[in-house]
Amino acid sequence: MKTIYLDHAATTPVHPRVLERMLPYLKDQYGNPSSVYRLGREAKKAIEDAREKVAQLIGAEPREIVFTSGGTESDNIALQGVARANRARGRHIITSSIEHHAILHTAEALEKEGFEVTYLPVDKYGLVSIADLEAAIREDTILISIMYANNEVGTIQPIREIGRVAREHGIIFHTDAVQAVGYVPIDVNRDNIDLLSLSGHKLYGPKGIGALYIRKGTRMAPLMGGGSQERKWRPGTENVPGIVGLGEAAALTGENMEERAGKLRRLRDMLIEGVLERIDHVRLNGHPQQRLPGNAHFAFEFIEGESLLLNLDLEGIAASSGSACTSGSLEPSHVLLAMGIPHEIAHGSLRLTLGEDNTEEDIKRVLEVLPPIVQKLRDMSPLYRERVE
Ligand SMILES: *Cc1c(COP(=O)(O)O)cnc(C)c1O
Repeated sequence: MKTIYLDHAATTPVHPRVLERMLPYLKDQYGNPSSVYRLGREAKKAIEDAREKVAQLIGAEPREIVFTSGGTESDNIALQGVARANRARGRHIITSSIEHHAILHTAEALEKEGFEVTYLPVDKYGLVSIADLEAAIREDTILISIMYANNEVGTIQPIREIGRVAREHGIIFHTDAVQAVGYVPIDVNRDNIDLLSLSGHKLYGPKGIGALYIRKGTRMAPLMGGGSQERKWRPGTENVPGIVGLGEAAALTGENMEERAGKLRRLRDMLIEGVLERIDHVRLNGHPQQRLPGNAHFAFEFIEGESLLLNLDLEGIAASSGSACTSGSLEPSHVLLAMGIPHEIAHGSLRLTLGEDNTEEDIKRVLEVLPPIVQKLRDMSPLYRERVE
């Protein structure tokens, strides 16, 4: 049975073109980019080519791109780096209650070190309000960190507005754009972004590689010491194959982005309409329009999300109940709770995230398989029988 992969928000396959570009750097092109001889210089050149491609994808200058080990590390360098360098100016940070744990756990760690963090609420669609943001700003606010698009429900934030407010107050603005890069056109200048995190494996690149955009002149301190690679922001011998792969992935997703997003949107809308039509007691989570092109997120009443996933897996369908990081725990997602979705409904959530490789046939198959699974699970639920009979 062919696997229907519908979990592209968790990770994406490496695109064949990306793999092809990487292979020489795993074989004959093994030089250390810091070495002076040809093999080293060629590796260095490959890194700088990749830097240009990543910069181009988000409207940055190449020297503002720092390669890291992924989204989590980029988020850590951004938050901790700004906190360390600006401690004397202020100790207040603003973020949202629906961030990825790479942000939330880092913010909590900073609270233990004496920083104060405001976690902005969101509305029922998962949107942050500009009025709430403005009200939260204080004299001593040094950083605003709001994600570009949410990894669970796909809601896209009003980033340009948030950036404008941050700029007006002279506050550094970071955005975790791991889910948005490659799917939504991003321009760090138009959007007033000072720091931006992205990750290779969410855009058809390899795992273990990412980047942090650092606007020139941003007041920050590096976290690690040890070498002068990546202008000292990220010391240690560079992951050359990974960097080359990320560069190629950036170039690839930058080509015909609108066309590719359009294809995802069509499949997504077919999936959403089909599910809402065929199944009752179900709701779509996240914003109906301002959402990632490939994201469909549902909550089914009277159902346990985990049983739904296991049953879909038996049919060869790979899906998620929300974030890969919270699955395995039975706590409902902090994102859904922040959106005001009751516990019992949040438990019945299903995230289907589409990618390049998905077809209309895949969607039809899901629409054929999902309704009887939901019905079977509900028939076993005493709550459902009480409510419906
Ligand atoms: C996946 C993800 C991360 C973590 O990226 P890694 O490269 O896996 O460390 C951070 N933020 C968001 C929004 C993500 O979706």
